Amino acid sequence: MTYTEVILLKCGEIVLKGLNRRRFEQKLIENIRHQLSPIGNFAITSRQSTIYVRPKDEPSSGAIDAAFEAVQNVYGIAALCKAAECPKHTEDIFKLLPDYCKNALERAKTFRVNAKRSDKNFPLTSPELSAMAGGVVLKHFPHLSVDLHNPDVTVTIEIREAGAYLYADRLPGAGGMPVGSGGHAMLLLSGGIDSPVAGHMMAKRGVSLTALHFESPPYTSPRARQKVIDLATVMTKRCGSIRLFIVPVAKLQETLRDRCPSELFTVLFRRCMIRIACLLAEKEDIPALITGESLGQVASQTMEALNATQAVSDRVIFRPLIGMDKEEIVTVARQTETYEISIQPFEDCCTIFTPKHPKTKPRIDKLEQAEAGLDMDALCQEAISEMEAILLP
Ligand code: ATP
Ligand code: MG
Repeated sequence: MTYTEVILLKCGEIVLKGLNRRRFEQKLIENIRHQLSPIGNFAITSRQSTIYVRPKDEPSSGAIDAAFEAVQNVYGIAALCKAAECPKHTEDIFKLLPDYCKNALERAKTFRVNAKRSDKNFPLTSPELSAMAGGVVLKHFPHLSVDLHNPDVTVTIEIREAGAYLYADRLPGAGGMPVGSGGHAMLLLSGGIDSPVAGHMMAKRGVSLTALHFESPPYTSPRARQKVIDLATVMTKRCGSIRLFIVPVAKLQETLRDRCPSELFTVLFRRCMIRIACLLAEKEDIPALITGESLGQVASQTMEALNATQAVSDRVIFRPLIGMDKEEIVTVARQTETYEISIQPFEDCCTIFTPKHPKTKPRIDKLEQAEAGLDMDALCQEAISEMEAILLP
């Protein structure tokens, strides 16, 4: 029995978007194509809120399995399955059914058939097709019994315009919205656990990313830089391409260390990071920033400290982790494959000059006083002038 194995993707929330739906769907298809292009040659089409991925390569190439892995990470997909596509003839369907769904049915004790006929020219109604297909399954797998309400396996048969589709296993997709459908933001990316998670959470809401990393050579090593490049590279699996900006800040940090009260160092430096991020965002036309801050996690993440950093920003700062605790953050870091990289022990520029007793409730007037003797704008511009940009596919 000849059939083609395809991937069916059910769009998630994007189907709710009324007139914008087309635009969202196009974005999703574009993102799927981007993730699949290194894997093989695929035709990607959409119909009735389902996206079809068909291999153009030899079926034996294994490309379909690799593609199935990859699309599980794409935001904007509610559910997905591999399905057999065959002609819309009952004899073809019933011949293929026990064969294609064999693995799932052998493992199960109970099953049901869910037939859906969107092509009304098909001679059987959906309940008729379900009943007949159920009979075929029972004949081949006599150990099974039917359970309509809570079966181990649901065999689905969809009669669509292009053909009949059979599948037994359906997985939940990554959910969320297609990256790029919700704007663009600049993620302040450290080598830690939190900021990559913050990036993924915003990407899941449809935001595409530019990442900004501050390094402090010679205090920070090339390994620390490579760690951040590795993090951003893994993030592209789910977030699409990422431009990574790397800005050296050793001189700026030395100036703050030498000329300002040490207990204010951390917040003063955080204000500089935000100033530099805003200057770059202005230049690149990026409307928002993202950080991995979580309320109360460290001295610089008290409400007062957050206010003090917020005060120098001229654009919205998203802090998607603000109400999460570390364990919840780690769970997402593991799911999104950044955790193992994040825990590699390389120093971050934020930790090298950290004072023994950082102020947890910094006052903005004191911070401004400390900054008054310095040419902040010149210091920030100088750091930016040495910026490097890396494009990660
Ligand atoms: P993370 O685990 O993401 O490093 P953290 O708990 O260590 O976060 P901080 O060091 O206070 O917290 O940093 C808070 C946020 O500031 C980070 O989540 C990140 O968004 C940003 N940030 C910190 N260090 C850097 C850096 N070197 N480059 C860019 N952004 C940074
Ligand atoms: Mg950090």
